[in-house]
Amino acid sequence: MSQFDYDLFVIGAGSGGVRAARMSASMGARVAVAEARYLGGTCVNVGCVPKKLFSYAAHFTENFHDAASFGWDVSHGPIDWPRLRDNKTREIERLNGIYGNILKNANVDLINGHAHFVDEHTVDVNGKHYRAERILIAVGGWPYIPDVPGKEHAISSNELFYLDELPEHATVVGGGYIATEFAGILNGLGVKVTQIYRRSLFLRGFDEEIRGHLAEEMRLRGIELRFNENVTAIEKTADGLQLQLESGGVLNTGAVLYATGRQPLLEGLGLENTRVALNEQGFIAVSDTFQTAAPSIYALGDVIGGMELTPVALAEGMNLARRLYGGIDQAMDYEYIPTAIFCQPNIGTVGYSEEQAREKFGDISVFTSQFKHLKHTLTENPSKVFLKLIVDKASDRVVGVHMLGDDAGELIQGFAVAIKAGATKAVFDATIGIHPTVAEEFVTMREASR
Ligand code: FAD
Repeated sequence: MSQFDYDLFVIGAGSGGVRAARMSASMGARVAVAEARYLGGTCVNVGCVPKKLFSYAAHFTENFHDAASFGWDVSHGPIDWPRLRDNKTREIERLNGIYGNILKNANVDLINGHAHFVDEHTVDVNGKHYRAERILIAVGGWPYIPDVPGKEHAISSNELFYLDELPEHATVVGGGYIATEFAGILNGLGVKVTQIYRRSLFLRGFDEEIRGHLAEEMRLRGIELRFNENVTAIEKTADGLQLQLESGGVLNTGAVLYATGRQPLLEGLGLENTRVALNEQGFIAVSDTFQTAAPSIYALGDVIGGMELTPVALAEGMNLARRLYGGIDQAMDYEYIPTAIFCQPNIGTVGYSEEQAREKFGDISVFTSQFKHLKHTLTENPSKVFLKLIVDKASDRVVGVHMLGDDAGELIQGFAVAIKAGATKAVFDATIGIHPTVAEEFVTMREASR
């Protein structure tokens, strides 16, 4: 009889943990997963899914506005926030149930409770010890709010999903994709929004031109963007909050949302009882086979840093299961991972930004196009779509596709397949467009614009 209760014990039933647990079990491993909070993890409960639902809700404002030019007289009052929030919560609860069934049907034992390491083969949950040949850490991350005086008055994305009521004015602090998405969502839901970011332009790491155009589009929609600015203190006032600003002024607001990064959720995990080591950024250090410094312990998903996206955590979970129990030893490929920002309008992107491509490939061609969406030609909506292709001149390979415009995420997913397959500019040029669409522009960009 085995000295272990399980072949694999997974800590965290989020994107990466559930995928690794379920796939490992399907390959014959005896698997348990411990979950302290909610089935499905961040993505399902306080991340991608509820955020996208809110983003859909926020888009209606623009559609209501444009409808008149198409002959529809639509009148609408302010959003019924409790209805949206509670409908969202009901859907999340349904998904929680689905995740429970997925684990049950895969013969994975679900253990509700906070897990911590006793030693490198033993985990404690609710005072009970479980021994496993291998243990996977898939505990994800948690919002980080810097130590600003009055930070107890700030909220993170976690709380935003459950607000009692929407404020008249909200301040979003941060310049990453979560901050930028929430600025757009709140604005679309009828809240006056100021976004504050300490650097000169948000969305560092994305293509600079796209970032610049997004800033214009957000301002057009009434969002106040304050770059090179920061909050130095938060004070409660009779009718809300007052923010002290680094530039010297004050800003009165109803709520302040900090989206200033996320940290791995390691508190109380008992890593001190193992040899698991952290990297310089504080994430769990792993080899390219997701093994930590303790040979029986693995880690993946947000807790190891990197791109911190659900499909990446899923792919890592799949990769590990196949490696450990399927006999497939294949390195994870992190190149050309597409991603979207569900800001307003959306950004969709795959491959290198112009800045990154210049550094990596040297000689590149850049093709851009900016135009009014056909849908907006009847309306007074001044919004413009912006598209960008980046080509490595030496190989003719398209190494970057970027879009700012409605449904950019949907559209870029398709191009990501072509880019992953190594499509060249000649292949793009030989592809017939679908008319009239926004996407056809990507296959008709003939002249390098610079
Ligand atoms: P998680 O999904 O965070 O799961 C970790 C789980 O472990 C949690 O359920 C937690 O409760 C549990 N846990 C932690 N510690 C313990 C313990 N000691 N014992 C037991 N259980 C424990 N990604 C996208 O791809 N697209 C998006 O649009 C997107 N939007 C996002 C929006 C927001 C607001 C946020 C916060 C994130 C978003 N993400 C998005 C990122 C995505 O949610 C994460 O990359 C993904 O959830 C990471 O999966 P994971 O398995 O590493 O961790």
